[in-house]
Amino acid sequence: MGTQATTHDDLRAAAVQIVRALAAGGHVAYLAGGCVRDRLMGLDPTDYDIATDARPEQVQKLFRQAHYVGESFGVMLVRQHGHLIHVATFRTDGVYSDGRHPDSVTFSDAEHDAARRDFTINGLFEDPLTDTIIDHVGGRADLDARSIRAIGLPEARLREDGLRMLRAVRFAARFEFAIEEATADAIRTAAAAGLLRGVSRERIGEELKRMLTHPSRAKAAWELQDLELDHAVLDGAHRLVAPTRLGRLPDDAPYSTALAAWLLDRSQPDDESPSDRALRWSRALLLSNADQHGLCRSLEIHDTLSGSWPRLGIAAQKRLAAQPEFEQALLILAGSDQETAVEVRGRVRELARTDLAPPPLITGDDLIDVGLAPGPAFRTVLDAVYDAQLEGGLGNRAEALALARAIADSDGPAAAGG
Ligand code: ATP
Ligand code: MG
Repeated sequence: MGTQATTHDDLRAAAVQIVRALAAGGHVAYLAGGCVRDRLMGLDPTDYDIATDARPEQVQKLFRQAHYVGESFGVMLVRQHGHLIHVATFRTDGVYSDGRHPDSVTFSDAEHDAARRDFTINGLFEDPLTDTIIDHVGGRADLDARSIRAIGLPEARLREDGLRMLRAVRFAARFEFAIEEATADAIRTAAAAGLLRGVSRERIGEELKRMLTHPSRAKAAWELQDLELDHAVLDGAHRLVAPTRLGRLPDDAPYSTALAAWLLDRSQPDDESPSDRALRWSRALLLSNADQHGLCRSLEIHDTLSGSWPRLGIAAQKRLAAQPEFEQALLILAGSDQETAVEVRGRVRELARTDLAPPPLITGDDLIDVGLAPGPAFRTVLDAVYDAQLEGGLGNRAEALALARAIADSDGPAAAGG
């Protein structure tokens, strides 16, 4: 906690220092956008952006540690006391023909720069040297009213960049704000017109990840479904269902767990299998291999826990309970069937008394030492011996080796060595 406050204070101090240096050079410079919004709400911004009338080459002259990151947009990244801060020249965006980037930008003033931003609460500037807020778009009133409102004509602003639909949902969920009516209507219309199709799957996947890894994830899910953005985001059908499992996850639940919970919330009896749908979501959201694996395994384990679990033997239960995704699957189950989840938890506690995943008594090397020839049958023998160990039927290495030899002999000459 203490270190976090210090890190944030340092970050802000670094940003203010850049503003001071720009001002000393005769330029107008403000903190801009999200960091102003967050501070007015009493939150610590995670990143700072500065907007200035200094041209990129002038920024470059003032700060040795400045690098272009969006050359055509006049965006520089300045390193100050180890912190990286975006410094962007005030600009007016030209026509968007690709629904993502303006074809051209013109350097301009603070008022125009505010007007190109997405929502009024994101269009504020702060002059930290005089401690004043510069508000060209009515952002303060909307912050007070807890409202997400597009700057300018909502339809036009969404047509420029369809991702703004998802940003509206993310901010509404995160801050518990309402999306203002005309903006919400425009989102519905734009969603129905397929505007999200013009947005790259990378950007969509990133936005959904940010929504679902935040404690407000269930509200985000509601909004996405309510505005009928869900089918385009998830590449499936539109569903208006209560995201109950999703809403009952702990605040810090991983992305893959949240996806699995929401997928089950949205499941209907005549659907394709959850694992088929998980693969479709993985492609639509460009999930990392780790997230895709986590999603699929959580669903598989959840499926076992809500089905065949009580009939599994000790070894199979222990093997399952030792899986990294077991706890996540159990958390999801607790969101829909608390009773079964409590039973499973009790059973796992019982199993853990004799160790869920002890180190194996023997390995492949031991099999070679007793004269068995390495081959595909090794795995079968080792698995069977480990099962016996998990069941509690083996006391030591010698017994494990004896069992291995017995299994290998009964499997015929293929497994037995010379
Ligand atoms: P957070 O960083 O908390 O997600 P943010 O509002 O700071 O929220 P950033 O992506 O850091 O979002 O962008 C900084 C600012 O740039 C925003 O506050 C907004 O003014 C502007 N901005 C960002 N993305 C867009 C967009 N797609 N369309 C218009 N303006 C945008
Ligand atoms: Mg930001």
